[in-house]
Parts: sequence; structure tokens; C-alpha cells
Amino acid sequence: MTVVIAVPKEQAPGEQRVASVPEIVQKMTKSGYEVRIEHDAGSSAYYSDDLFIAAGAKIASSRTELLDGARIVLRVQPPTVADVDQLSEGTIVIGFMNPANNLEAIARMRDRKVTAFALEFVPRITRAQSMDALSSQATAGGYVAAILGADNCPKFLPMLTTAAGTIRPATVLILGAGVAGLMAIATAKRLGAIVEAYDVRRAAGEQVRSLGAKFLELEINAEGQGGYARELTPEEKAKEQQMVSAAVARADIVITTAAIPGRKAPVLITKETVATMRPGAVVIDMAAESGGNCELTQSGKTIREHGVLIIGPQNLPARVPFHTSQMYAKNLQSFLALLVDKDGKLVTEFTDEILVASLLVHAGEVRHGPTRELMSGGKR
Ligand code: NAD
Repeated sequence: MTVVIAVPKEQAPGEQRVASVPEIVQKMTKSGYEVRIEHDAGSSAYYSDDLFIAAGAKIASSRTELLDGARIVLRVQPPTVADVDQLSEGTIVIGFMNPANNLEAIARMRDRKVTAFALEFVPRITRAQSMDALSSQATAGGYVAAILGADNCPKFLPMLTTAAGTIRPATVLILGAGVAGLMAIATAKRLGAIVEAYDVRRAAGEQVRSLGAKFLELEINAEGQGGYARELTPEEKAKEQQMVSAAVARADIVITTAAIPGRKAPVLITKETVATMRPGAVVIDMAAESGGNCELTQSGKTIREHGVLIIGPQNLPARVPFHTSQMYAKNLQSFLALLVDKDGKLVTEFTDEILVASLLVHAGEVRHGPTRELMSGGKR
């Protein structure tokens, strides 16, 4: 029996992305899937219904029509409780699940015996690189953050030698040199700025320098398990704070991306540090949605303090939806390959280590330990 894949129109406010694009739909239909797209699902990313039809998809005019008999649902944002209520038992939902903030919907998936894979838990092993949606979307986020910084800066970024005088280049500081930070560095460099960067992981130094930026060194190595950052001790934090504050004070644009998975973002720019910044300086706080790297950041808002513009953007990848949808769709296509056997049949046992790691809910059980703990009243 043909496996039906459904792609709903994203409903979250400000979400412009779509979980599949015509190029990938064409590949999925060639592999024997029936692909259904909810009417208008791709319009805000500039993928029209007509393009999807030309790629072999069927357009569903309602949610009911979309989901009728669908085995797999591809999403960008986590499903809401109402979304889950429309799914029948055994449906497989794949997408970002943001588990800590969606416990109710996860409980509903458990109760309705829906299977959910959370893309944020795809392990960062070489084999899973093509499925790494966190990385593809963070790349876009870093790019947009640098553009947003340049757009809000009262200065040119490059050095200019003109008949009207010589303009000195702007200084851009990137705090946190993971996937998003490295892309922000590359983008700011291309715009001609002097770029400095800092990360608690010393290994990031080489990557920063290879992009032509200066890496701020501190005698701390806080590389924890799996290449992620561990939390710093209080003494380490104080030292870091001093060095970072001095760099922040001399920057025209500061882009912060520092995150510790599953925890509140660390504060790297205190309100006292903001008071030492240059008037006209800009802070783009990419960690705004997880508490902010700047003490004054307000998620989803732009504020001005001491002449400094502090921007707390939400969902930066959605601002370049054409390409982020394309990258995300490719990530999902690679992930889907793990769910079928060599005869194109859906696997019934999820034994592959990537599937095991990303399986959030299955057969009436929450399979992800930390989420299960949160649901039984554990600490966040
Ligand atoms: P992230 O979004 O979790 O964090 C962003 C950056 O902030 C990280 O580089 C982190 O070290 C840094 N940070 C945390 N606390 C900080 C502090 N107090 N001060 C300064 N910086 C701080 O990170 P990410 O972009 O998802 O990447 C995490 C790691 O995974 C990196 O080592 C990255 O290279 C690695 N990675 C590997 C693969 C792969 O091998 N397939 C793919 C993607 C990322």
C-alpha cells in the first residue's frame, strides 16, 4: 500500500517555512510515496500549489482531506494539542518538537498512540549530517542576525576610502561560535567588518580564525560531552565576564548565540556592561527565546538602553523561508530514508541509532527520558 506523506500549512504566528518543497516532493513521489500538501502550505515561502502539483503532489483543500489515511506528517513547528487530536493512531509525525515547552501536546500524542520524532535530538554524528535540521536552520539564523545587525547599525561595516574621507571599518563581536555564530562571523567578514569572536569551547578558536576573525582567548576549556559546552564554575564565569565585557564595550555590533542545550541561556552581557557600550551600538541576541544572553533582552522586542539598540529576535530562520524550507525539506528527506526498508516498506522496529535517539513518543509511551521526567514533574 502506498505510504501517504502529509505536509500541513504551518499555523504558528510568524512561521513562513514549509516542511517540504517541490524539488524534494518530486524525489519522494519518485520513491513511491504519495505526497499531499495542504492548500497554500508553501505560499509564504514562495512555493505555490501549482509548483507542488507539477512536482507530483496532491493539494488537499482541508486538514481532514490532508490527513485522511496519511501515515507520515512532516512539520516545521511542533503540533498543538488540536493538531494532535486530528491524527489517528499510529501516525508518524516528524519535525521540531521543542519538548520542554510542549508537554501537553506530547502527552496527547502519547495518549492517542501517535509516533513522534524530534529533529532536535538527531545525534550530531557524521552519518546524520544531512538530517541535521538544527544546523541547517542555525546557519540561516546566523546569516540573518549579521544582516539585521548591519541594517540597524548607524555605520558602514567595510572600510571605505572615498573623496569624502576615509571610513574605518565597524567592529562586530560574535559571542558563541557554534553553527549560527560561525555563519554570523562569515557574513560579517563578507560585509567588510573587523570581526572578533568568543566561545567557551577552545576548539572553536581554530574555526573562528579560519574565517579570518580574531578569537578571544581565555584560559578556560569548557568543552563538555558531545562537543557541547558545559556550565562554567563561578570563578570561570567572573573571568569570562571581564574579558567579554571589554570586547563588548569596543564593538559596534554584538551578535550573541550562546546556548547550553535544555537550559536557560547564560547571561554574557549584563545591564552594567550595556551602559559601557558605544551609543549607536547594536546587540542581536539570538538566544532571546531561551532567556537571552543580554540581561536586558526582551524576546520578540527591540529596545533602546543607554543609546544601545537591543534586538531580541524570534525565529530568524523563518525570515529566509525560501532557502530554510529547502534545507529543512532535504533534512527530512534524508531522515525519511531511515524509516523504510530496502523494499520501500515502513520499518516497524526503530533500531537505527538515529531513530532511537530522536524517538520522542511511540506506542503510548514517551521514549525520551528527560522529557518523561519533565512530564512527571521533574526539574527543567
Ligand atoms: P549551541 O547552539 O548549543 O550553542 C552555541 C554556541 O554557544 C556553542 O558553540 C557553545 O559552545 C557556545 N556557548 C555556550 N555557553 C557559552 C558561554 N558562556 N560563552 C560563550 N559561548 C558559549 O551550539 P551548536 O551551534 O548547536 O553547536 C554545538 C556543537 O556541536 C559545536 O561543537 C558544533 O561544532 C557541533 N556540531 C557538530 C555537528 C556534526 O558533527 N555533525 C553538527 C553541528 C554542530
